[in-house]
Amino acid sequence: MDWDVVIGLEVHAELNTNSKVFCSCKNEYGSAPNTNCCPVCIGLPGALPVLNKQAVKYTIKAGLALGCNINDIAIMERKNYFYPDLSKAYQISQLVKPICLNGGIKLSNGKFVRLNRIHLEEDAGKLIHNENIGSLIDYNRGGVPLIEIVTEPDISSADEAVEFVTKLRNTLIYTGVAQCKMEEGGMRCDVNLSIKPKGSETFGTRTEMKNLNSFKMIERAIKVETERQIDLIEGGGKVVQETRRWDDVNEETVAMRSKETSQDYRYFPDPDILAVTISRQDVEDIRKTLPLLPEQLKDKFVNEYNLPEYDADVIIKDKEISTFYLKCVELLNEPKQISNWLMTNVLAKLKDDTLQITPKQLTDIISLVLNRKISKQNGVELFELIWGTTDDALKIATNKKMINDMSADELYKIIDEILVNNPQVIPQYKTEPDKILNFLTGQTMRQTKGKADSKLVREYLINKLK
Ligand SMILES: [Zn+2]
Repeated sequence: MDWDVVIGLEVHAELNTNSKVFCSCKNEYGSAPNTNCCPVCIGLPGALPVLNKQAVKYTIKAGLALGCNINDIAIMERKNYFYPDLSKAYQISQLVKPICLNGGIKLSNGKFVRLNRIHLEEDAGKLIHNENIGSLIDYNRGGVPLIEIVTEPDISSADEAVEFVTKLRNTLIYTGVAQCKMEEGGMRCDVNLSIKPKGSETFGTRTEMKNLNSFKMIERAIKVETERQIDLIEGGGKVVQETRRWDDVNEETVAMRSKETSQDYRYFPDPDILAVTISRQDVEDIRKTLPLLPEQLKDKFVNEYNLPEYDADVIIKDKEISTFYLKCVELLNEPKQISNWLMTNVLAKLKDDTLQITPKQLTDIISLVLNRKISKQNGVELFELIWGTTDDALKIATNKKMINDMSADELYKIIDEILVNNPQVIPQYKTEPDKILNFLTGQTMRQTKGKADSKLVREYLINKLK
């Protein structure tokens, strides 16, 4: 039997605010345990939360970038449950009136994955399990603002899920609202998955896999869970609605760990936090702060700069690269030339290094090459020399005697000498012109220590050998 896979995602991203969402403690990853804490975020009785305006603005901004509608009124609610990393025994989140509704992301196969909502909530602390000491709790993360992006069940494969999360992550990074450092838990993904007979309208029972924090994990978990559900159903079994129990099912644990529904959490509006009113003016003001997003940048690169789609796709993948590229084009109106240098030389360096060249340094090198002040070969050498320094391109090129200061006559004289010294190649040119041209150009470049303009050399040779 053939099966359809139905996947909905809940993606959590920590917002890039300076302070936490309900207190003024630092929102900072990597501090010593339990140092960014206060009575509010560790939930001491009587402590009162104050909503961080920047967190609301960032949630709206994320929503606008993802095409959401922004609610006029948003309500913070208490989601009640006990867990050691949640010392208040409730999480402040949103249920009935989230900040953002709808929106979505278009995948490369044309499918539009709809969002149900984006809501704002607080993160919980972190449990650290230590073999020798036992379990420890670090509350630094408690109260860090999180947005939860919830999709409709529109995704049908691991590939689509990975593409969705990649695009979502890139969009959030571009807007600046979140850094989405998956390895630090700054972005985590819950996967809801069910299967149904191909073409069937009725959804199967779904399971939820929580806190997948790498693309590899998302991909693998989806594949493994899909196989498990198919084997189960084809073997006459039933999928049970549950959380994280995709590899070890038995009747007892199913009942204990069955997936809770929203009723189980007894949500109610937090009496300590007023409803958030969002005016249309607020929304429009925030909309004005949106930068060009990846897809818009791609359009710009392809339509205004005439870049091939391939180049555009490579450049928009990383905000740092696209920002660097835009600055280069501002300095030197040679979009394709810059793209060539970026995609070959710069990206090769970035495989094991951070970006260590300025837009000015790179465009100066490209200008020197395009104006035939230095050869392409020396341009590449100059690029290697300038990487990681604050030096001026022209200065290095001058010091290293790369500048082509030869007159055309001087150059032609050198070429003439080479021809005199290699008489055997002249008859060969008729049968193997490319080989001979390359040989003679190579000789000339060697003789001029790489300074000669290779295009000029070839033109002269072709003329001469006719
Ligand atoms: Zn605090």
